[in-house]
Amino acid sequence: MTLDRARILREMGLGPVWKRRVPLPADAVGSPEELVPESVASPPEFAPGEPAAAATPAGMTWDELGAAVAACRRCRLCEARKQAVLGVGDIAADWLFVGEGPGAEEDQRGEPFVGQAGKLLDNMLAAIGLRRGRDVYIANAVKCRPPENRTPAPDEAAACRPYLERQIELLQPKLIVALGRPAAQTLLQTEVKIVAARGKLHDYRGIPLIVTYHPAYLLRTLMDKAKAWEDLCFMRRTMAAIKDP
Ligand code: URA
Ligand code: SF4
Repeated sequence: MTLDRARILREMGLGPVWKRRVPLPADAVGSPEELVPESVASPPEFAPGEPAAAATPAGMTWDELGAAVAACRRCRLCEARKQAVLGVGDIAADWLFVGEGPGAEEDQRGEPFVGQAGKLLDNMLAAIGLRRGRDVYIANAVKCRPPENRTPAPDEAAACRPYLERQIELLQPKLIVALGRPAAQTLLQTEVKIVAARGKLHDYRGIPLIVTYHPAYLLRTLMDKAKAWEDLCFMRRTMAAIKDP
C-alpha cells in the first residue's frame, strides 16, 4: 500500500489512526502498548444534560423529533454546535442516505451535505435519477458537528442513534444507503470495512441496506470512483428489484 493510500484510508476512518494516549517525555522510547487507536482514546468527560426519559425519541412525531434534536444535550457534540442538523428531504421517500455528521457548512446552514461532499452526493443522486428532496431523505449518524470534523466517537454515535432509528421508523424507506464507515457501523451495529461490505445487501431491521464510500473520501481520491459507480449501479438495480420483484 502506498503512503498516499494509507493516508486516505486513515482520513476516512478506514484504517487505525494511532495516537499516544499519554504524552511521553522527549527521550522516552515508545512501545506499541502505549499506543491506542484514536477512536478509543478517551474523549473529554461529558455528563448528559437531560434526564433519559425526557429525550426518548421512540414514538416522537417529526415535529417532536426536530425539537428534541435542536435542544439535545445527550452528548458532548452539543457544546460546539451552532445548530443540530436533523436531516432533509422527502419524508415519504423510498431512499434514505445516511452520512457521518454535519461539517462546518452544514452546522451553519442546518442542512446535511451542503458543502463540497454534498455537491458530489448530489451528483451521485443525479447518476441514479434522484434529486435532493424528491424521493430521497438525507440524514447523518450524528446530528451535531464533531469539532474539526473528526470522526464521531462511539459514545457520541450511540447517544445519537435513537434519533436516526426514529427517523427510519417514520420514513420506512425501501432502501438505506450508508455513506462511509461511521454510518454503516452505526446502522449495522458491527465493525464494518467498506471494501468488504460494499456490493452486498445488508439488513437494517428488515430494510435492505447498501454500504458505499463516503463522498468526502471520493473527493480525495480518484481510485475508488469507479467502484463508487459500481455501487450506484448496484443501488439502482436493487431498488428496481425491490419495487418490481
Ligand atoms: N459529511 C457528512 O457525513 N455529512 C454531512 O452532512 C456533510 C458532510
Ligand atoms: Fe444530541 Fe446527537 Fe447532538 Fe449528541 S450529536 S447532542 S446525541 S443530537
